[in-house]
Amino acid sequence: MIIKPRIKGFVCITSHPTGCLENIREQANYAASQKISGGQKPKRVLVIGSSTGYGLASRITAAFSCGADTLGVYFERPPTDERPASAGFYNSQAFCKLVRKEGYKAEDINGDAFSNEIKDEVIAKAKEFGGQFDLVIYSLASPRRTDPEDGSTYRACLKPIGAVYKNKTLDTDKKEVKDITIEPASDDEISQTEKVMGGEDWELWTDALLGANLLSPDCLNIAYSYIGPQVTQPIYRNGTIGRAKLHLENTAARITEKMAQAGSGKAYVSVNKALVTQASSAIPVVPLYVSILYKIMAEKGTHEGCIEQTCRLFKDHLFGESEISVDEEQRIRLDDWEMDPDVQQKIIEIWPYVNTGNLSELTDFDIYQEEFLKLFGFGRKDVDYDIEVDPAATV
Ligand code: NAD
Repeated sequence: MIIKPRIKGFVCITSHPTGCLENIREQANYAASQKISGGQKPKRVLVIGSSTGYGLASRITAAFSCGADTLGVYFERPPTDERPASAGFYNSQAFCKLVRKEGYKAEDINGDAFSNEIKDEVIAKAKEFGGQFDLVIYSLASPRRTDPEDGSTYRACLKPIGAVYKNKTLDTDKKEVKDITIEPASDDEISQTEKVMGGEDWELWTDALLGANLLSPDCLNIAYSYIGPQVTQPIYRNGTIGRAKLHLENTAARITEKMAQAGSGKAYVSVNKALVTQASSAIPVVPLYVSILYKIMAEKGTHEGCIEQTCRLFKDHLFGESEISVDEEQRIRLDDWEMDPDVQQKIIEIWPYVNTGNLSELTDFDIYQEEFLKLFGFGRKDVDYDIEVDPAATV
C-alpha cells in the first residue's frame, strides 16, 4: 500500500510506519547524546501515555539517556491489511525495536489506562518485569474517560468559564486566520473535564502501584501540565482544561503525602512548553499561538521539541546534580523559556497584527505544518513515500 497523509480537521487519519520509525530513531539519537550519569538515574520506568508526544519523548529519554527498562501504556489502533495503524502504535513498535537492540527491556500494554483491568495488567507485568519503578510518568491526554467505579463515561471540553471568549484562531487545514467565539462551559462540562483530565486517575494509578509495593523508596512520580500565555488564558488556563490542570496540580500534594507515608518517594507536576502534538492541535487558538511562539523562540535560539524538553527535565531537574527546583506552587517549570518575558512581550506585539495574508511572515506556520505531518510519520526527507509498504508488517 502507498500511504499518504489524509487530514481531517486537526487529525491525520493515516500514518506511515517507516516515517514513524525514523522519527523515533531521530529522537533516540538526540537522547543518546544527552547521557545522564550518576547513581540516581532511573533503572525501571513506567510511562502512562507512552506512544506519542511528551510521554513518548519521556520514554525515549528514560531508555536512551538513562539506560532504563521501560513499561509503556497507551491506547492505539493496530493496523489491518487495508488500514495503517495509528501513529502511536508504529511509534511504540519502533521504540521497542530500537531499544531492545541496545539491550534494554521494553514492554507495552495497549489498552484503556483509565480502567481497572489495565492497572491490574500493569501490576502483573511489573512483577515479571523486575519489580519496583523508580520513575513513573503520567502523560495521558484524552477526550473522554470511563470511570471504573460508576461505569459512566465523562467527556472533556475546551471552553471558557464564566464568559464568552472571542479571539482569533487558525484554521490549520485552510491556512486561514479567522475569528472564533466560544460560549462558556456549563457547570456539568467543567466537572466532566476535571473528571477526564484532572488528577483523579493519576491518584488511582498511584494507589494501585503503592498497594502492590511497586514504587521504590526514591521513586519520582511525575504528571505534566500547562499554563501558557495571556492570549490563550480564557480558553486554556482559566477555561475548562485549565481547571482540570489545577485539579491535577493540587492532587500532587496528596499523592506526595501518600507516597511519603509508604516511604516511596515524591510526586511532582512539571509544567511543560506548548508544542505541536495530537492533543494540542485540537485546542482552539493554541495552534496560532504555537506558530508565533516557534518563530520567536527559534530566532532566540531557545526553541525545543518534546525530546529536548524531556531531556532537559531529566538532566537539569529530576536526575541532576542539585535539588529539584520548583515554583511557589511546587511545580517544576519546564516552560521557563516559553514564559521568558521577552518572548511573551513579542507575542503580545505580534498577536493583533497577524492575519491570513501575513501568516508566513509573522509566524512559523510552515514549521507548524511540518511538525504536524511528522507526528504521523509524514514529511520526512529521508523517507520515500511512493514506495509500497505493508501497513500490518512489524516496523
Ligand atoms: P498526546 O496526544 O501526544 O499523547 C497522549 C498519550 O495518551 C498517547 O500515548 C495516548 O495513547 C495516550 N492515551 C490517551 N488516552 C488513553 C487511554 N484511555 N488509555 C491509555 N492511553 C491513553 O498528548 P501530549 O500533548 O503529549 O500530552 C501529554 C500530557 O502533556 C498532557 O497532560 C498534556 O496536557 C501535557 N502537556 C502538553 C503540552 C503540549 O503543548 N502538547 C504542553 C504542556 C503539557
